[in-house]
Amino acid sequence: MESKYRQRRSLVAQMLEEKPVCERCDAGRSTDIHEVVSRARGGSILDPANLVALCRQCHSFITQNPLVAEAEGWSKHSWERDDA
Ligand SMILES: [Zn+2]
Repeated sequence: MESKYRQRRSLVAQMLEEKPVCERCDAGRSTDIHEVVSRARGGSILDPANLVALCRQCHSFITQNPLVAEAEGWSKHSWERDDA
């Protein structure tokens, strides 16, 4: 576990360096790495394809507005819901 978190920390640092500008608003400075498919849903925290660099404001927004985040494609379920 510990080493996975170390890997995660260096991946986050690397991604923030490669993507210094928020991928959502294209304006804010990236400070957070967000998992499109969350850990709780079985998403990988170490797969760059599952990660996006976001500014603090966008990260807070998509955390607080999960339905909007899903509509915009920033959050995905690992399953499909017909009644969503
Ligand atoms: Zn942003």
